[in-house]
Amino acid sequence: MPTVYFRDRFMPQEQAQISVRTNALHYGTAVFEGIRAYWEPGEGQLYVFRLPEHYDRMLRNCRVLHLNVGKDVKELCRLTVELLRLNAHREDTYVRPIAFVSSEEIGPRLHGYTTGFAVFTLPLGDYLDTSQGLKVGFSSWRRISDNAIPARCKVAGGYVNSALARTEAAQQGYDEALFLTEDGLVCEGSAENIFLVRAGRLITPDRSADILEGITRETLLTLAREELGLPVEERPVGRTELYLADEVFLCGTGAQVAPVVEVDRRPIGEGTIGPVTARLQRLYFDAV
Ligand code: PMP
Repeated sequence: MPTVYFRDRFMPQEQAQISVRTNALHYGTAVFEGIRAYWEPGEGQLYVFRLPEHYDRMLRNCRVLHLNVGKDVKELCRLTVELLRLNAHREDTYVRPIAFVSSEEIGPRLHGYTTGFAVFTLPLGDYLDTSQGLKVGFSSWRRISDNAIPARCKVAGGYVNSALARTEAAQQGYDEALFLTEDGLVCEGSAENIFLVRAGRLITPDRSADILEGITRETLLTLAREELGLPVEERPVGRTELYLADEVFLCGTGAQVAPVVEVDRRPIGEGTIGPVTARLQRLYFDAV
């Protein structure tokens, strides 16, 4: 029986229950994170990737939703490492913290409610295939805009948007969905940021494109600049620019670096995994 962190203590998962009346269940009023820990068999150690950065993002996002976890980044890191020790995983592991409106009152609002907080961990291999090259397509669902539900904030309710797109993509035979913004610009995947390579330049939609400000995105921008010396551009990207690109890939904590070989049934570049994607993927796996 795995241990989880809930109500300010560690407890067996089966005891960590919430009421059917919980406000967050009805209105999606929660902020969550997704964190990976990598098992290093040679050393018998689990390495959590950029744990403080994830909790820093979470606490900032909680401010937007008026959620008060009552703990700082240091304390959240400490209790998460303790939880991983208690669960003694010996494989790659996913960590899911969630802060939510725990009040049982009826009504969508954020002020005057109590905040609940929980963390659980589970074994997790690849979320998307990272070896074959994905076939993806633009969704008929547009991305929620910053002035509707901020995608930047990893709000639970916002993931209905992702769920609609991901199921549509699967039903159409795609491996993953891509979103356009309400303005018709390239945004991101259902749970990944997107990059393209054109003429040796690495390009990704900028932070005003209704994206989640991904930690993997930031990591890859740094690796590209500092390790590969590649010019990088954060800027608006049009849909057909992807069709013309030499390479496309998705990235995220779950997805890691996942090459894309087809967009809207059009082959990208040679229709195989490109050299920049392969180098960045290798650098990323080395780093984590
Ligand atoms: N966009 C969305 C919508 C996501 O859910 C995720 C996964 N957290 C990402 C991008 C990638 O973010 P990160 O690299 O921080 O995991």
